[in-house]
Amino acid sequence: MTVLLGWLFDVELLKALLPGKVAMNPGGTAVGFLLCAAALWLSRSPTDHRTAPRRARRTAVVLGWLVVWMAIVRIVGYGTGFDAGPDTWLFPAKLEAYDDHNRMAPNTALNFLLCGLAIVLRDVRWRLRGQPAELLTFSAALVALLAIVGYAYSSVKLIGMDSYIPMALNTAVSFAVLSIGILCVRPADGLMAIASDRGAGGVMLRRLLPGALLVPAVVGWLGIWGQHQGWYQQVMGLSIFALANIVVFSGLFWISAASLNRTDAAMRKAQLEAEAANRAKSEFLANMSHEIRTPMNGVIGMAKLLADTPLEKQQREFLNLVQQSADSLLRLLNDILDFSKIEADRLELEEVEFDLRDCVGKAMKLFALKADEKGLELAVRIAPETPHRVIGDCGRLRQVIVNFVGNAIKFTEAGEIVVDVNPGQLSDDSLVLHFSIRDTGIGIPKDKQAHVFNAFSQVDSSTTRRFGGTGLGLTISARLIEMMGGQVSLNSTPGVGTTFHFQIHLGIAADQTLRQPAELSRLENTHALIVDDNATNRRILQEILTQWKVSAEAVSSGDQALQAVGEAEAANRPYELILLDYHMPQMDGLQFAAQLRRSEPSGAYEIVMLSSTASGLEPAKLRRLGIARFMTKPVIASELLDVILDLMGIAVPAPREVESETPRKQTPRCILLAEDGLVNQQVAIGFLQKWGHHVVVANNGREAVEAARQTRFDLILMDIQMPEMNGMEATAAIRRDESGNGRRQHIVAMTANAMKGDRERFLAAGMDDYIAKPFDPAGLQAVLARAPEPRQCEPRQREPRQREPRQHEPTPANVPASANVPASENVPASANGPASENVPAASDVPAASDVPAAEVATGDSPAGGPAGPAEPSGLDWSLTLRQTAGDEALAKALAEAYVVEAEDLIARMQTALADGDPQSLSRAAHTLKSASAYFGGQDVVEGARKLEHREPQDDMDVARPLLEELARATADLVKAIGQRIS
Ligand code: ATP
Ligand code: MG
Repeated sequence: MTVLLGWLFDVELLKALLPGKVAMNPGGTAVGFLLCAAALWLSRSPTDHRTAPRRARRTAVVLGWLVVWMAIVRIVGYGTGFDAGPDTWLFPAKLEAYDDHNRMAPNTALNFLLCGLAIVLRDVRWRLRGQPAELLTFSAALVALLAIVGYAYSSVKLIGMDSYIPMALNTAVSFAVLSIGILCVRPADGLMAIASDRGAGGVMLRRLLPGALLVPAVVGWLGIWGQHQGWYQQVMGLSIFALANIVVFSGLFWISAASLNRTDAAMRKAQLEAEAANRAKSEFLANMSHEIRTPMNGVIGMAKLLADTPLEKQQREFLNLVQQSADSLLRLLNDILDFSKIEADRLELEEVEFDLRDCVGKAMKLFALKADEKGLELAVRIAPETPHRVIGDCGRLRQVIVNFVGNAIKFTEAGEIVVDVNPGQLSDDSLVLHFSIRDTGIGIPKDKQAHVFNAFSQVDSSTTRRFGGTGLGLTISARLIEMMGGQVSLNSTPGVGTTFHFQIHLGIAADQTLRQPAELSRLENTHALIVDDNATNRRILQEILTQWKVSAEAVSSGDQALQAVGEAEAANRPYELILLDYHMPQMDGLQFAAQLRRSEPSGAYEIVMLSSTASGLEPAKLRRLGIARFMTKPVIASELLDVILDLMGIAVPAPREVESETPRKQTPRCILLAEDGLVNQQVAIGFLQKWGHHVVVANNGREAVEAARQTRFDLILMDIQMPEMNGMEATAAIRRDESGNGRRQHIVAMTANAMKGDRERFLAAGMDDYIAKPFDPAGLQAVLARAPEPRQCEPRQREPRQREPRQHEPTPANVPASANVPASENVPASANGPASENVPAASDVPAASDVPAAEVATGDSPAGGPAGPAEPSGLDWSLTLRQTAGDEALAKALAEAYVVEAEDLIARMQTALADGDPQSLSRAAHTLKSASAYFGGQDVVEGARKLEHREPQDDMDVARPLLEELARATADLVKAIGQRIS
């Protein structure tokens, strides 16, 4: 623009930049630059060329072609003598004034050709690497630089061809600027991406490039200027040029290297910070899992202990569900850790043989309660031809099923959820299993279906508020399925329902021997009736029964069932077995059973009631209605078989429903349990004492150190996270103490931290072993087995208690009484448990049967189970054994303690009677009562109860005959016990 103004108003400086130099051609060159500038302006985009509007880009290309055309006309004009363009039209007279008519110079025309093409081809890429535009631009820049250098060094050859007008200085400078502009218009592309990069390379290039361009130019110009001044000769000038370049570039490199070092240090620092933040995140995860696992430890441990007590069949089934749900919760907790593992590609699958039906069935059973709460039918069908024993990762498969079924239940308000499993053969020893999980829920809109597998993604944001969840379930499941060799897909119609399909690859175990009893054949041709309103359930039950060759018919309502029963009787082929759904419209299962009973059928029916919950189904009521058994839905074939065989009187060894931890007899050890959580204490004490060990509890690290100073323990179980002093510090303190005396106690770290490397950390801190919480009794046993042989405290601990009963000592309610008591004094709680009134809660755990006297007096055994055969003295040794989970030694220890304590208590009651002290009398009677309950001892229990609950106004004289009677009964019991253990 300035050049055109210069031409318009005849200002030489504007036309030529420097006085006396060639002027830029107005209509050709100046207009060419204007066209190029406009093209660049239109195609510019600061970050991404795709964001420039298409129309603008197209216009830019048109302008580029215009420049190319103009350049070609000028070049051709040199050959043909033709010269026309805007300049000749705008300023014909002014151009005439110049000798050479101020035509566009040939190298200028060439540069316009290069720049025009570069603009046109700006977004074209070569297939291998690089862009033609860059090459063209660099060529144009080189021509421009030659001209500039030519002006600087007064070298005419560099400026243009001898016989033609040279490129004007301002033209050359403009081309240099235009070249930079063409490159910069795509800052994130090609070579410019390197220059504009924020990394060290980009920084370095941006710093050095101006120097690389300017330094030689300036130094060279100064050198020549000095020569022209006559200060030195050419050789000297060149030497100075070389030296100056060396010095300046060395300095530049040095400065850049220093700055790169600084960047590098900053990067290293940032990397260390990122690693620290990552570690903090992992620790947070570990802590979180610790916090949640601690109460889980309580739930799982207590449920296991409860499983070892005598339970009714139905109670045991409920307990099964509690245990499975707790396990599943723990597993979900682990999922959070899994997700980070999956993210880091560090998750591995097991390859273990397992029972497929058992695995799927257990996963389904977890949802029985939930499905019932929502009134949903939950059914599972495993195709009969599916192999029974397969090889793979049952835990992970269960996790996947739990996720899908959990979602199905969560997003379904009415209807049914059906899991269908079908096999497909891959080879002789592997199969592909197709799973489908169908629900009749809210469905997933088409456009959201792809997203539900993304982490933390839910169909709509309100989902979280309405249904809960994190949006991780499907992500983890999909990844697990991929790892198991399959893929997941879904069909869904909003408002109708969703079906998720997935396949997994599993190995087929060599041994496919069915765990079905040989007696199965006796079920053949049994006549059975299925009564269920849900068609899927009917189909599944019929398929199962048919598989056992039971001849089964199915009806959908109570009315139809009554009719079917009548018809079958009329045909003289009455049903022997009725599988009866509880929840049915119109006539429910109970009403049907009642009506059937009223109709006095001739057949001997065995009715099995199927329901997701037992609420409202008291065993007595069921028995009254002639319902023999109750089963929770979804029905698993193997369970149904057990029930039916049992009902039909076909003897099969009863399966163990709850894995109970068989207490193994072990050498008793003196164990310090350093643990701050009351529940964890109880669980650990429960197991350890059950196995006959003696436990001293420390509530924190400081107490543990104190206790370890006073007594030498065979084993110290050390929690890591404790108040006051944590496990690591306590271990260090204990090890310091030991360094003086040369004894080394075996310290086992206990923690809910499930992070990799923890074990190594604990071992490095001076611990000898490690056990993860929640305690797995097998794990605890393994730790005990690895510990050194007990050496010193066992014999003393086994001695019956000789001291005054602790009932006279105040005990804080929330602290186990055994805390802080030195080991030698701390008689095993199992020995003093029943005899003492304020036994720590922990001691009650294995014998969760400290029942109120009234219950005991009515003749129920403490555990609520049927009383075993009792001797005349009232001793029921089998009950004692049950209380100690079959541990004979522990039972004996308990008996020895009882013998001493009972005599002591009778003596104290006599003293209290003589002293007229009713309170002491009552307390001692209470203690005797609860202690005797461990041995049956009904007479003693009853006598003690009477003494304990005398009316306040009763004269002490009333107590005398009662006490005499009690003393006699107690003596009998003590004698019987003495004989038993002698
Ligand atoms: P969680 O992490 O507790 O499993 P979530 O159930 O919300 O949380 P995903 O299991 O990953 O997360 O499911 C992602 C989303 O997909 C759900 O929030 C829900 O919107 C949708 N979805 C999954 N299963 C179903 C289904 N059976 N019916 C309808 N929508 C579903
Ligand atoms: Mg989910």
